[in-house]
Amino acid sequence: MRKKIVAGNWKMNKTLQEGVQLASEVKESVAKAAVKDVTVIVCTPFIHLTEVKKTLGNGVALGAQNCAAEPKGAFTGEVSAEMVKSTGATYVIIGHSERRAYYGETDAILNKKVNLALEQGLTPIFCIGEVLQEREANIHFDVVKKQLSEGLFSLSAEQFSNVVIAYEPVWAIGTGKTATSEQAQEIHKYIRGVIAAKYGNAVADGITILYGGSCNAQNAKELFANPDVDGGLIGGASLKAADFTTIVTSF
Ligand code: PEP
Repeated sequence: MRKKIVAGNWKMNKTLQEGVQLASEVKESVAKAAVKDVTVIVCTPFIHLTEVKKTLGNGVALGAQNCAAEPKGAFTGEVSAEMVKSTGATYVIIGHSERRAYYGETDAILNKKVNLALEQGLTPIFCIGEVLQEREANIHFDVVKKQLSEGLFSLSAEQFSNVVIAYEPVWAIGTGKTATSEQAQEIHKYIRGVIAAKYGNAVADGITILYGGSCNAQNAKELFANPDVDGGLIGGASLKAADFTTIVTSF
């Protein structure tokens, strides 16, 4: 049985004090919901990691939103996978569309980040997804296949089994425009098929594939009901503990 996951991506929101407050609310409401078999993660800005880890304890896992493509050294402003790991974080988002679009992160760069994260024992949450023009041109299947193949397919089957995939259509991120349940299932199934062709059915069946893009407390249930949707990567709705917890309970 593959892992069900709900991961919050706080992006560049919340001061340290506000972040600790939100983490404390998330911890409490997730504990109250007493959901079994769902891994809950919050991915915070770097500066929050250590304090949020202390606040969360063990019930909710911690992730970063990025890590450097180099292991250490003269890279001013960067934070390495090893440094992320040292805070107690166990997950790291890699290749979010905002990193790809605004910071020029190519699949080759992302592949380096994934390798460094895995070397540290971090679980990469690797984001893929097409922009609106690509969906309209009906090339979204090719786009995600290329992102998978260039970003991840140099990994061994064992390494790949430690990666979580997040399918996030860029046109749905922060726009309030969610993929329909049918669109999500169609492409998640396709992604699993591409993985099966490369690594075999057993690996593909074990990989968690999250949906991201305006997933919220109202639509999560329908999206998560699909056989190939194993949870969500949640932006805006992860900033309110109550909404985030409703999503956690939506399986
Ligand atoms: C995201 O940033 O990963 C995301 C899915 O954002 P939102 O839920 O706000 O669309």
